[in-house]
Amino acid sequence: MSAADLSYVQPTPNSPWGTYLSQVDRVVPYLGELSRWVETLKRPKRALIVDVPIEMDDGTIAHFEGYRVQHNMSRGPGKGGVRFHPDVTLEEVMALSAWMTVKTAAVNLPYGGAKGGIRVDPKKLTHKELERVTRRYTSEIGIIIGPQQDIPAPDVNTNAQIMAWMMDTYSMNVGGTATGVVTGKPLHLGGSLGRVKATGRGVFVTGREAARRLGLDLRGARIAVQGFGNVGSVAAELFAEAGAKIVAVQDHTGTIVNAGGLDLKTLLPLARTEGVAGFKGGDVIANESFWDVACDILIPAALEGQVTAERAQKTQARLVLEGANGPTVPAADDILAERGVLVVPDVICNAGGVTVSYFEWVQDFSSFFWDEDEINQRLDRIMMNALNQIWDTADRHRITLRTATFAVACERILMARQERGLYP
Ligand code: GLU
Repeated sequence: MSAADLSYVQPTPNSPWGTYLSQVDRVVPYLGELSRWVETLKRPKRALIVDVPIEMDDGTIAHFEGYRVQHNMSRGPGKGGVRFHPDVTLEEVMALSAWMTVKTAAVNLPYGGAKGGIRVDPKKLTHKELERVTRRYTSEIGIIIGPQQDIPAPDVNTNAQIMAWMMDTYSMNVGGTATGVVTGKPLHLGGSLGRVKATGRGVFVTGREAARRLGLDLRGARIAVQGFGNVGSVAAELFAEAGAKIVAVQDHTGTIVNAGGLDLKTLLPLARTEGVAGFKGGDVIANESFWDVACDILIPAALEGQVTAERAQKTQARLVLEGANGPTVPAADDILAERGVLVVPDVICNAGGVTVSYFEWVQDFSSFFWDEDEINQRLDRIMMNALNQIWDTADRHRITLRTATFAVACERILMARQERGLYP
């Protein structure tokens, strides 16, 4: 791993930033003359660490650590979600921001990459405390975000309500109503139809095409899904509608299996309220056993680093669809490639969310809103065009879809970097 020597982060080979750096190293041979600029990708443009103090409902004062990292803005304003999670670190947010740079370039959206996070367990906060944390964080990062600078959005444990508070806080500070400062907002506040389901839909659209190319019939295909939030559950629903069977689901409460297919109509409402563990229509198994369940398609849609070398060795899937960001460590990527398991990487597979975020931002600027059919059609077209281009690149160089996605994206980013030139 040839890490840029940054004093503020010490990545390891399987940590998020270490994983990202090794993905960049793998693309260098395909960048030609542009490789001269590659160091640009190995360090974030800007990283802001903020203190987020709030008064708790019981009158005590609590402090949380918050981040906003702008990895690259060569092609446009920063873009990327905000994550609320007790384990969030600067290193993780750096990697997530860098994957946004690659993702937005892979689908050719006019954005750079950014990401934010607060080291907090939102489940332990009351509604009012959550609002105060969100507002104070937004105010603290307000010096670097904005509709033309950097546009946050939902990610793990954040949603439309949190985006409404962010939009309001930013707007109050600038003295206007700036709907374009965040995406993933409620519909009546400049949100877009189709945004909530967009990430899961993109996983489905890219997965369906990958299955077609593999000769894998979706009717009767067995699917295992890790993470049953906004991404995993929507993708599962769409695959089930296409005739696939969801045979295993894992979330933070446990793992359930049913070789005949889990009944999503009863599972989905339970998953949203209590989690999947209490579901009666399947058997509970040990969490580690999720990885060798008999299945054709594996959808990791939870957090980073889940597909380890050991788990890659035992999966029975022929196709892996990365709903999560950074779920596969580099050693596991090599094992999957050797074993002939096709991986549709995060930076294209889950790009549906940011694509509809882009539609939302465009609609906010023009104050003209599209209907859901138009949004879904445009989303499907963008995802399919990007995937086909990536597939051609992979075939031409005989490389994995991940390296091909990085090749297509990094060429766009570094070309912009070169054309803009260095200031001063
Ligand atoms: N958090 C999502 C992602 O990881 C969406 C980001 C956005 O819409 O800006 O792609």
